[in-house]
Amino acid sequence: MRRITIALITALSLPLAMATPAGAVGLDDAFAKLLVKQVKGPNVKKHLEALQAIATANGGTRAAGTPGYNASRDYVAGRLRKAGYKVTLQPINYVESWSENAPPTLALTAPGSKSYVPNEDFYSFQPSPAGDVTAQVQGVDLTLPPAPSPSSNSGCEESAFAGFVPGRIALIQRGTCAFAQKIRNAGRAGAAGIIVFNEGQPGRTDAFPLDIGEWRADVPMVFADFAVGNELASTPGATVRLKVDSKLVLGTNDNVIAESRFGDPRHVVMTGAHLDSVTAGPGINDDGSGTASILEVAEEMAHFPVKNKVRFAFWAAEEIGLLGSDQYVEALSEAERDRIRVYLNFDMVASPNYAYKLYDGDNSDNVGSPAGPPGSAEIERQLQAFYASRHLPTVGTDFDGRSDYGPFIAVGIPSGGIFTGAEGIKTAEEAALFGGTAGAAYDACYHQACDTMANINDTALDVDADAIADSIARYAFNLRSIPSRTAAGAAPQVAKTAT
Ligand SMILES: [Zn+2]
Repeated sequence: MRRITIALITALSLPLAMATPAGAVGLDDAFAKLLVKQVKGPNVKKHLEALQAIATANGGTRAAGTPGYNASRDYVAGRLRKAGYKVTLQPINYVESWSENAPPTLALTAPGSKSYVPNEDFYSFQPSPAGDVTAQVQGVDLTLPPAPSPSSNSGCEESAFAGFVPGRIALIQRGTCAFAQKIRNAGRAGAAGIIVFNEGQPGRTDAFPLDIGEWRADVPMVFADFAVGNELASTPGATVRLKVDSKLVLGTNDNVIAESRFGDPRHVVMTGAHLDSVTAGPGINDDGSGTASILEVAEEMAHFPVKNKVRFAFWAAEEIGLLGSDQYVEALSEAERDRIRVYLNFDMVASPNYAYKLYDGDNSDNVGSPAGPPGSAEIERQLQAFYASRHLPTVGTDFDGRSDYGPFIAVGIPSGGIFTGAEGIKTAEEAALFGGTAGAAYDACYHQACDTMANINDTALDVDADAIADSIARYAFNLRSIPSRTAAGAAPQVAKTAT
């Protein structure tokens, strides 16, 4: 653990004590310069070597549910505690296994009676827990007859459940947002069971087996064809029996969360990287690079009297569905969410054939997902300014939902970060900007056994660790460019994953 000199502490605490606006203006700049100087590539690489050694000692992986993950957790938590942080381990659930003992049951019990045919009219929605419930069905924002093209927003927003009576079975139409999101909202609204049915356009009428891969609601759920959904929706007071006979085994991994001792807890600067790898490899670029970088920043700033609270997150189970960040955000109250002023995500920052990509907060690239929540554009601009100060170019990268910022932007928390590229192919324009090889992947070892220490670009790691330090340091003292939020102002966005 490296210490700062007394002179530095004095330089920082003096303007704080004076607390004049003029004094505060320069403080973010001064702290950014100091922290960037303290944060060093070789220190980041020491953490990477530790993660590599952990993978090597644990079958070549640090994936969710493996001993390599727990060893990674212990390493990071240990370093943070040693640096003086209060460390919290937050247990996260993931699906360890799921199997079906018998076909599911879906039957109309009133008015009249009718049994639907399992594994034809409807299927268990994997990973549905076991359950047997008889209750009235309530449709959620259904579009019947269906629109000419797929567009149903049924169940995508929590507000759609405002009039939902807890204890009923939610009837939800396919469309627009991820199944997982509809299911989670229904679970939160107190549904006793969930029927999702196909939307109804040509080619979107049948039932089929579906796996959302994530555990989202603790009630039985099935996926039905359009005819079943349409019939139940058009039967006033329809009551059904819904039974799923399955065995769901949940596993647990921990998020590692650490907070600065100093700083105003009403203004939280949050940063995160995922701590798990895929099963195929040690995950040294993905995302050892982000993990090691923010860990180094945490160690170097442990004793600085920052103005705003800085919170470091090392996420569990990102590679199997952003589970760590998702369950973290879900567990926060509205007030706790509002206190997180920015979320900075660093997932893959040292790709061997790198480009300096910044999340496109203002959607200036006009591709894929819309702009991030208000403040995201400002985060992108602040990161751009750092690279510009080193005469380095940057390009945008879409908020495509492939990393842990997803759950944050979904609840209106402004986000940004750096990404040096994964399996995508570097363009000729990018090769002209950044060097490297056009027509080749940014990271040819993405999600493979060869994502080892040899898969790290030292230049990118060094520059990005400094950019990360600069960004965290500035927000640790100055959040004026970021609009403050209230519950009313934080309009949830709809996640744009598979529908
Ligand atoms: Zn990753």
